[in-house]
Amino acid sequence: MNIDIATLFPEMLENYLSQSIVGRARAKEIFTVNCHDIRAYTKDKHRRVDDTPYSEQKGMLMQCDPIFNCFQAVTEGRPKPHVIYMSPQGRTLTQQRCRELAQMEDIFILCGHYEGVDERIIETLVDEEISIGDYVLTGGELPALVLVDAVVRMLDGTLSQPDCYEDESHYSGLLEYPQYTRPEVWHDMRVPEILLSGHHANIKKWRHEQALLTTAKKRPDLLRNVELTAEDLAIIHKVVDFDK
Ligand code: SAM
Repeated sequence: MNIDIATLFPEMLENYLSQSIVGRARAKEIFTVNCHDIRAYTKDKHRRVDDTPYSEQKGMLMQCDPIFNCFQAVTEGRPKPHVIYMSPQGRTLTQQRCRELAQMEDIFILCGHYEGVDERIIETLVDEEISIGDYVLTGGELPALVLVDAVVRMLDGTLSQPDCYEDESHYSGLLEYPQYTRPEVWHDMRVPEILLSGHHANIKKWRHEQALLTTAKKRPDLLRNVELTAEDLAIIHKVVDFDK
């Protein structure tokens, strides 16, 4: 997978993208990512990339040309990538969407700043607007990193095995079961006996029940989008009133 990110602050992104699990996946060439400084593509002699919005006294808006020039230079000679504009107006990012994006070969991410970007660049270039939540940040850099991190961890080879992410919250629609590590007893609290039993089938069943109960307690809204068996429903009804 190849990812290009157009931003006014490439160094903000570079640091994160060279560290930890994402950095190792990048070093192993499981994916490539390049951050492009939009300012390098302005023809303005003062390197300006923004101007005041029409009929507004407040804020600045990123202009079309530097973004468009950046996109053209970066993608020249290759098929158009899937273009994502990180935006509080987009569809909220989900694990399901990350799974779909992880199947794509080429993604171009546009990070806005100031008041955002001129609407005509969205009409011309953008295939999809993605939000990371219903709040407004100063720029698209953190949202772009959130997106890249969530997608890259599902690429083959990033984590040691697929069940590292398949068991995690949201992958199946449920939240993850509770987890424990050593010591076996901490402040008089014991690790659940079943986890010490070594009985894999029972542990799997317990984990599924716990995932159902955790979801029912913390995020019952998620259960509406999960296929539940009669047995699952009986477990859930122990903790919440829930009608599918
Ligand atoms: N004026 C815009 C509006 O009200 O919709 C908000 C602009 S915001 C201050 C600047 C940039 O930050 C946006 O262009 C976008 O790239 C990014 N951004 C802010 N909040 C975001 C969010 N929740 N999800 C994704 N991107 C976000």
